[in-house]
Amino acid sequence: MGKYLIKGARYVLTMDRERTVYTDGAVLVDGDRIVQVGKSAELAARVTPDTEVIDARDKLLMPGLINAHLHLTQLHIKGCTTDFFTPSLIPKLHLLEHTQDEEAAYYSALCSCIEALKTGTTAFADPGGYATAQMVQAVDVSGLRAVISRSLADFGTVVEEPTDQAIQAGKEFVEQYQGAAGGRVKAWLSLRTERMVSNELCRRIQILAQELGVGIQSHVASCRHWIDVHKEAFRGLTPVERFHRSGLLGPNLLLTHCNFLTAREADLLREHDVRVCHCPTSGFILGMGTLHGRHVEMYKDGVCLSIGSDNAGASNFHDMFRVMYALTAHRDHHYDACVFSPEDILDICIVNGARALLWEEEIGSLEPGKMADLILLDLNRPEWLPVLNPVNNLVHCATGESVDTVMVGGKILMQGRRVLFVDEAEVLAKTQEAGLRAAEKAGLLKTAAMRWPVR
Ligand SMILES: [Zn+2]
Repeated sequence: MGKYLIKGARYVLTMDRERTVYTDGAVLVDGDRIVQVGKSAELAARVTPDTEVIDARDKLLMPGLINAHLHLTQLHIKGCTTDFFTPSLIPKLHLLEHTQDEEAAYYSALCSCIEALKTGTTAFADPGGYATAQMVQAVDVSGLRAVISRSLADFGTVVEEPTDQAIQAGKEFVEQYQGAAGGRVKAWLSLRTERMVSNELCRRIQILAQELGVGIQSHVASCRHWIDVHKEAFRGLTPVERFHRSGLLGPNLLLTHCNFLTAREADLLREHDVRVCHCPTSGFILGMGTLHGRHVEMYKDGVCLSIGSDNAGASNFHDMFRVMYALTAHRDHHYDACVFSPEDILDICIVNGARALLWEEEIGSLEPGKMADLILLDLNRPEWLPVLNPVNNLVHCATGESVDTVMVGGKILMQGRRVLFVDEAEVLAKTQEAGLRAAEKAGLLKTAAMRWPVR
C-alpha cells in the first residue's frame, strides 16, 4: 500500500449522498483510505514525491461492486444441471459442499474470488459453507473483502446437526475468524435456509448475534415448493412470519431470495429493517420464479434491497454486471420501462450492497475517509460506444470484461486485467482438476453428461 493519485478519469461516479459525478476526475489514496475526490486539476496540487500517479484517461472510476450473495464453495456444481431443485439432486448439492476435500474447497473459493475480482466486485457476502478455513484463506489470498459464514442447520437436511452443536459451531467460527485477513473478513452467523432451521435455533442465533455484535444470513422463499415444505413442517406458517415469531427479524439479518412473500411478510421485513438480497439470475437458470417476487414494491417501500449472483450452479457466474442487467427483466414483467432505472440499479448493487453487509461506514462510495475500494472501467470498447450517459451504458451495455483495474483497501489487485497476487493459470488448472474430483465424489458426473453424442 502506498500513496496513489488516480487522475484524468473521464468520469468519476462517487456514489456519495448527492451521487456526485466528476468529469476529468481524480481520487487520492493514502494507505488503505481515500483522502480526496474531485477534479484532476484540484488534486494534482497534492502530489508529493512518494505519490504514484495512475493515468485514468478513457476510464470510468467508481466504487467496487458489492455482491451480497456469493457461495464460495459451490463452484464445482457449475454446469451439472439446471434442475437442482428436484428432490433427488438437492441432497447431492449439499453433500458435494460438505464432502469435497480441502483442496477442492480451496480452489472452488479462490477461483470464485478471481472471477469476482476480474469482473469488478471488491466485497461480497458468502451465505455460509463448511470449509471455512479454506474460504477465509481464499479471501485472504485474493485481497478481496468479504462476509464469511459457517452454515448452520438443525432440521430436515442431510447435513443437519443438533441445535446446541450448531450454536457452538457458529460461535466458534465467529470468534476464530472475526477480523481475519487484516480486517477484510467479517465473520457472521448463517442459517442455511428456512426449512432447515428449528424455532429454537432461530431464536438462539439472534441472541448470540447480539452478544457477538455480528450479522446473520439466511436463504428464504427461494421457490414455491420449499414454502409448501416449510408450511407443512411449521403448522402452516409462512417462513418470514415464523422468523418474526422466533425473534429473528432485525437490521442485522440479511435474507436472500424473498421470491414468494405475502404482503404481510414484505411489511414485516420493512418494519424490522431487514436487509434483502435478490438473486434474479438464479431464477433464470433454475426456474425459481424470481420475477414474481415483490422486489420492485419492497424497493419502492424503502426496504434495503441488494443483489447477488448466488452459487455457480444457480447463476453459473459471478459477474455483477450481468446481475445488474438482469434486474431490468422486472421492467418487462411489470410492462414498465421506468422500473429499476440504471441509477436505482447502481444504488441497489453498491450503496445497498454495503448496507446489506453492515459495512456502509467504510465502503460503498468514494468519499474521504472511506476504504479505497475502487475499480476503473475501460470506456474505449465497442460495447460502450458512444458514451453519452455513462450510467445508462454501465448498466445496459457493459460486462465485467470492461473492468481494467481493481483496488481494495488501497492495494492494487488487478491492473490492465492482469491479476497481480495469484498465479491465475495455476489456479485455473487446479480448479478444473478439483472440480472433476468433487463432482465424481458427489455422484454428479452422470448428471452433468452432455446430451449430444461425444465421439
Ligand atoms: Zn444461495
